[in-house]
Amino acid sequence: MAPITKDVVLSALKSVQHPSAGKDIVSAGMVSEIVIAGSNVMFALNIDGGDAGAFEPVRAEAEKAASAIAGIDKVMVALTAEKPAGGANGAQPRPAAPQQSAPAAQQAGVPGVKNIIAVASGKGGVGKSTTAVNLALGLKAAGLKVGILDADIYGPSMPRLLGLTGQPQPVAPGSRVLKPMEGYGVEVMSIGFMVEEDTPVIWRGPMVMSALQQMMREVDWGELDVMVVDMPPGTGDAQLTLAQQTPLAGAVIVSTPQDLALIDARKGLNMFRRVEVPVLGIIENMSYFACTKCGERHEIFGRGGARMEAEKLGVPFLGEVPLDIEVRARSDAGHPIVASAPESEHAGIYREIAKKVWDTLESRASARPAPRIVIE
Ligand code: ADP
Repeated sequence: MAPITKDVVLSALKSVQHPSAGKDIVSAGMVSEIVIAGSNVMFALNIDGGDAGAFEPVRAEAEKAASAIAGIDKVMVALTAEKPAGGANGAQPRPAAPQQSAPAAQQAGVPGVKNIIAVASGKGGVGKSTTAVNLALGLKAAGLKVGILDADIYGPSMPRLLGLTGQPQPVAPGSRVLKPMEGYGVEVMSIGFMVEEDTPVIWRGPMVMSALQQMMREVDWGELDVMVVDMPPGTGDAQLTLAQQTPLAGAVIVSTPQDLALIDARKGLNMFRRVEVPVLGIIENMSYFACTKCGERHEIFGRGGARMEAEKLGVPFLGEVPLDIEVRARSDAGHPIVASAPESEHAGIYREIAKKVWDTLESRASARPAPRIVIE
């Protein structure tokens, strides 16, 4: 079969009319860049600050039109509003200017989810996703109901880390609401279930947000004590917007001990402070190398950098996770260590970190004022 091209998708979308412009949605300039990954297609419809509810039928029609193309398996259409309309029903705000902070009232909570926490890092490759999954499993081991939202849409790794394949299914035939996937007793949602992990997807900022909003709000998460959000690495606009528009109870920062990473970690910390999200603490990953042959602990990257830095910055230090081949091998094979080797020392470290995080959440929850009711 001929490969699907953007032109094929565009010509199918020309059958969908703009509700008021008197032309089709392609001619009206509503259709974003089209991302094609194998048999999956994703694009956004820009509603220029219009009322998202009014455009929902158009979105559904566009999804149907694209789904009808031969060879297309899965279509994801998001509504985005790049220009804020102002007013209560307006578009989602643009990334905050550095001095701005997010008014808490803009972020509606996710029904049934008590705490949403972000796991973030100033740069990639520090073990953020590995930490997120083991932290989530540590919280689960403490008897909590836990979900993971893989927001690392540039490199979603939760399907691989939890050894999950397949795609989330609608809660009922024809419903837009999806049932999350489940791995080791933890609910999971990831864009990685829709696209291949190594697909080079260039997501534009607003599209990133819509995809995430959908994964957060159009998924039947049920009752959760904690939703762990695996953030995209870094501190750019997309991360800032995400941090701002997600009703976060707190953030955990993962860093390696190297100075460079710590500088990045500080940027992560500042990002959350800017949007008034409490930083629950710093985790030092690949902190030391415990040599199984000689039994010694090698501080290969220098010692206690993150602990000292946390003290200096006035944020809690949550713990050190050693660099260990078991951690790597098990996560890369889809059997995270906390679930697959619960008796190991490393699993114990993650559980302790999880306990500290939960204790902090609980103590903050009891000190928190009653939530304001927001009518959207
Ligand atoms: P990030 O999400 O920050 O990009 P990952 O969690 O994907 O990082 O980790 C990057 C690589 O490092 C993976 O191969 C992972 O298995 C490995 N890794 C993470 N933490 C550890 C650790 N404590 N010991 C050994 N390998 C680790």
